[in-house]
Amino acid sequence: MKRVLVLGGAGFIGSHFCDFLLDKGHSVVAMDNLITGDLNNIKHLIAEDKPFSFVEHDITEHIEIEGDVDYILNLASPASPVDYLEHPIATLKVGSMGTHNSLGLARKKGAVVLLASTSEIYGDPIVHPQREDYWGNVNSIGPRSVYDEAKRYAEAITMAYNRYHGVKTRIVRIFNTYGTNMRLKDGRAIPNFMCQAINGEDITVYGDGSQTRSLCYVSDLVEGIYRLLISDEIMPVNIGNPNEITILELAERVIKETGSKSKIIYKDLPVDDPKQRCPDITMAKNILNWEPKIGLEEGLKSTTKYFMEKLGKN
Ligand code: UDP
Repeated sequence: MKRVLVLGGAGFIGSHFCDFLLDKGHSVVAMDNLITGDLNNIKHLIAEDKPFSFVEHDITEHIEIEGDVDYILNLASPASPVDYLEHPIATLKVGSMGTHNSLGLARKKGAVVLLASTSEIYGDPIVHPQREDYWGNVNSIGPRSVYDEAKRYAEAITMAYNRYHGVKTRIVRIFNTYGTNMRLKDGRAIPNFMCQAINGEDITVYGDGSQTRSLCYVSDLVEGIYRLLISDEIMPVNIGNPNEITILELAERVIKETGSKSKIIYKDLPVDDPKQRCPDITMAKNILNWEPKIGLEEGLKSTTKYFMEKLGKN
């Protein structure tokens, strides 16, 4: 049994990790400042008699935790473009100061620390699909830079702590992920399309919908990140589903899956919205023996069920 600190433990991915780690027999401390996290995602764990505790704390402030810690998962950050545009300074601070604090804690405790980085570090990529050795195409002063550059700094300081302090670090670059525990109004494509389709509202496709994304179901992602955590790999590893589709096609798939009569309308494409995104997962396959198992059809089914319940439609 290991003791794991999950930063961002009440968020979309963090809360899934809490469930996953407890199922594996580990003990978990979840930490979150709840700016985009939601206690509803973990309230069943607080109520049950499990080796689980929750601490409300903003990790841009010094992190204090009693006792041993074996692993630190740094999943704390607003991650949807709408959220990080609404909280630009908090996003920069959690990626920089928050990551610094997580590394300092790992150094003090002798813990392994995993940074959740992102496909956003590739910016609007010119190389396609994106391999880990691609340095990216990021606008350092654009509206998305608050997230992209914070995560690029986070990768840099994580590597520095590994090289100069010998801290055991891991870096995962997470591509678009979806599933249960997403916030209804987090502004990303899947929550927007699901809510709009289920409520019979117009589906808002930004631009002409020809931009692509590759969507990974959250349980696949969690398994991949866990394998990276317990591996010895220092270099960044992409975790995502290489099944690439256009956003217009995604909107159509959501309409079909929800049985909706909604129609698609087109809105302006946000500034610096990447035109294409698809992970090369050769490294994850070779090093972690990992690849995603849940296809879009199956993933959209359980996601539809979740959004229907959340919207009180069943
Ligand atoms: N998008 C869209 N309509 C929406 C929300 C998002 O067309 O209501 C598009 C967005 O412009 C982007 C893609 O869907 O091209 C994925 O956006 P998301 O916010 O999910 O994440 P991103 O991959 O941009 O970080």
